[in-house]
Amino acid sequence: MTLDAVDRYEPRRVGAVGDRAVVVGGSVAGLCAARVLAVGFDEVVVVERDPLPDRPVARDGAPQTSHPHALLAAGQAALEDFFPGFGEDLVAAGGLILDVTRQLVEYQHGGFVADGPERTPSYCASRPLFEHVIRRRVGELAPVRLRGGCQFVDYLADDGATAVTGVRVRDGGGPPEDLAADLVVDATGRASRTPEWLAENGYRAPPEDRVEVDLQYSSLRIERPPDDRRMVSVPTNAPRTRGAVVLPIEDGQWDVILAGMFGDGAPDDRAEVLEFADSLPIDLIADLLRAQPWVSDGVARYPFPASLRRRYEALDRFPDGLVVTGDAVSSFNPVYGQGMSVAALDALVLHHALADGGREGLAPRFFDAVAPVLDTPWRMAAGADYQYEQTDGSPSLGTKLFNWYFTRLLKQAHDDGVVAEAYGEVVGLERSPTALLSPRVLARVLLPVGGDWVDTDPGRRTRVPSGSDGSARDDERAVEPPSP
Ligand SMILES: Cc1cc2nc3c(=O)[nH]c(=O)nc-3n(C[C@H](O)[C@H](O)[C@H](O)COP(=O)(O)OP(=O)(O)OC[C@H]3O[C@@H](n4cnc5c(N)ncnc54)[C@H](O)[C@@H]3O)c2cc1C
Repeated sequence: MTLDAVDRYEPRRVGAVGDRAVVVGGSVAGLCAARVLAVGFDEVVVVERDPLPDRPVARDGAPQTSHPHALLAAGQAALEDFFPGFGEDLVAAGGLILDVTRQLVEYQHGGFVADGPERTPSYCASRPLFEHVIRRRVGELAPVRLRGGCQFVDYLADDGATAVTGVRVRDGGGPPEDLAADLVVDATGRASRTPEWLAENGYRAPPEDRVEVDLQYSSLRIERPPDDRRMVSVPTNAPRTRGAVVLPIEDGQWDVILAGMFGDGAPDDRAEVLEFADSLPIDLIADLLRAQPWVSDGVARYPFPASLRRRYEALDRFPDGLVVTGDAVSSFNPVYGQGMSVAALDALVLHHALADGGREGLAPRFFDAVAPVLDTPWRMAAGADYQYEQTDGSPSLGTKLFNWYFTRLLKQAHDDGVVAEAYGEVVGLERSPTALLSPRVLARVLLPVGGDWVDTDPGRRTRVPSGSDGSARDDERAVEPPSP
């Protein structure tokens, strides 16, 4: 399910739910959960081990905050509903709103994606700035108390562990403190300890789906002329394992990511970065890296071994008083830029689960409702990763067919703004992938347009006039990017 199939945020739907809720983890999923719990609970305590200063900071507890983050359209819409005026706040704090239709230069499968017919606003900022604006808005809600520098130690439970009744926490090096709660939300990310706690307390741990990608991120910042707001995206396209993204952010800078899958990448000095950029199928990113002064002293690196989905919806027993959200349930290959947006959609689902039945049977209702919401980004991320022969496991026939169709669609999107727009809405999690099968899009994807596609080098394909062998344009790099 995508944004178009989930009811929008409607705070009036929620009555009194409980006295105190505790959210463990003060990153994007925890903050969005706190926002929806602030309607229905008298007090919402957010427990975060990192300090939470009133300014944008990259945090050690969420090391990916040092790396560029894109916010998808579904995430923008959900955040705007949770915090009316969110986009304006972001811009006031230095962020940008781009028209991705005109300002995104996106290279996919041998060509540049065409401009769609409509303006498509997109919020751009560094990850610390996104989080700062969300945190400030959450902190302004009367019931919310943000406790930075506060370590979650364990859950408190009743005899027999049928219900979680609170949390044990510790401020800095201080003594442990017990916080009773009617509801605890685990938003501690991928390293969540809930599966172990369940196993230790007589429950089954959730079954897990894992898709190994052995992804390496290398990130840095470069200076950006104030009037140049281009975003550049060269995603990994199977079988090419390298990709890169350049995102315009605050303070006249570009955030740059170089991503290599299956161990192919992770440059960590200037020479390696330039060599990596030179190996991409277009010159634009290497040109920017050479032309613009570097803001970063070094290159930040982050290894991401695998997409991981914990199937809480498959459990037949789960303690009352606890739910799990965000990356703690599902963390996706980050090259698809989905995590923050999915965290916001999770909170939207939690909001409706609270509205529909309060705390009664909340966890199973939430897990059942969130599973179809996670299916779409999971299929799009994990499904696309199955296009690589290095990915273990065999994709279903449905995944193979979807991948074939999606690749063909991306090639048609080079020349067809209608197809490009439909693609943008689906990868932005605004609309279901079934929208790509509407008669209008299907006809454009299946009918041949403008020539044939030929394989040139591994990972390189190019469009040539029908009947040609492609020798005149045997390099993806021969294609000129659209102008800024
Ligand atoms: C390299 C990389 C790049 C990414 N790029 C994008 C992108 O472009 N777009 C996008 O939308 N998403 C992206 N993501 C995903 C995104 O970062 C997450 O999905 C998003 O932060 C939501 O995660 P979360 O809040 O569930 O967990 P996290 O962000 O991991 O936060 C968990 C929080 O829990 C806290 N915590 C953990 N244990 C304890 C404890 N014992 N006590 C107290 N606090 C605790 C941590 O300090 C942390 O703040 C990327 C991820 C990675 C790894």
